[in-house]
Amino acid sequence: MVPELSVVIPMYNEEDVLPLLVQRLRPLLDGMDVAYEVVAVDDGSTDLTPALLHRYHREWPALRVLRLRANAGHQAAISAGLATARGAYVVTLDADLQDPPEVIPEMLSAARRDNVDVVYGVRSDRSSDTWFKRVSAQTFYRFIRVMSGTSAHADAGDFRLMSRATVDAVNSLPEHNRVLRFVVPALGFPSDTVEYKREERAAGSTKYPLIKMIRLSVDSLTGISTAPLRLATIAGFVGAVLALLLIGYGLVARAQGHTVAGWTSTVAVVAGVGAVQLVCVGILGEYIGRMYAQLQGRPTYFVAYDSLTESSPQHGPT
Ligand code: UDP
Ligand code: MG
Repeated sequence: MVPELSVVIPMYNEEDVLPLLVQRLRPLLDGMDVAYEVVAVDDGSTDLTPALLHRYHREWPALRVLRLRANAGHQAAISAGLATARGAYVVTLDADLQDPPEVIPEMLSAARRDNVDVVYGVRSDRSSDTWFKRVSAQTFYRFIRVMSGTSAHADAGDFRLMSRATVDAVNSLPEHNRVLRFVVPALGFPSDTVEYKREERAAGSTKYPLIKMIRLSVDSLTGISTAPLRLATIAGFVGAVLALLLIGYGLVARAQGHTVAGWTSTVAVVAGVGAVQLVCVGILGEYIGRMYAQLQGRPTYFVAYDSLTESSPQHGPT
């Protein structure tokens, strides 16, 4: 039977929260009156998480377990879960109960009521995050927005509901190291937001040390745009213009006789070669940017209405 709702939960060494999670999630989902499955993605845990999951799976058949052979990271674990989830709607949720499961019914009813494909969970209150995390996140999202013009919500993380059409679209993308919170908005499906209060981690400690945060930031930046490559082109042309000016100055100075012998030709060679190199690097950058966009394989446009068929493409399950 195909479930109506899948709940995908990535977990890495979450033995401490797992019992709390099951205790809170199961009665909630059982009470929702939909056919559901929970996809627990064990991201190569080295603690008791796999053993616990095995036990819960036996007593709660709707809990499916997908075990990754090695730690692949939060985003990759979610992607693995999305690839195997079967629901008409799929919610992704952190294991540590920072995203309250009680919001899931709200997301589902918002999606059905407004016939939207994506419902983003938006944090109304980040008081549970550290000062460092709040400030770094805020600055970073602003920067990304300016760089890319994407509409990713600054307070939306990976707690979101997606329709089957959205999940299929995400699954069809060949992009590696993708950061879903930027990929999903870029797919352009109609969306809603639901506010929630981000809670403290229920037990255990964060699985996002600074090094993983930095990796996520780099993946986000390089994933959303090729703007950094374009900087190379711009720098190349600016450098080339400056080099030409310098050569011009060298020639004038020589004609007026204020130069040491050999200075003009040295400047001309150094500046000229430098300018050619900069422009060439810029051109390479442009082609690499094109190749990169092609490899990412994201859609370049979305049809909202077509008069030939007099319909909008069906969004989401009906
Ligand atoms: N996680 C994962 N693989 C990792 C790191 C984290 O699957 O390599 C999971 C983790 O178990 C949790 C979610 O991703 O369910 C978010 O991680 P965490 O709560 O540690 O991050 P924070 O909330 O501190 O940013
Ligand atoms: Mg957390």
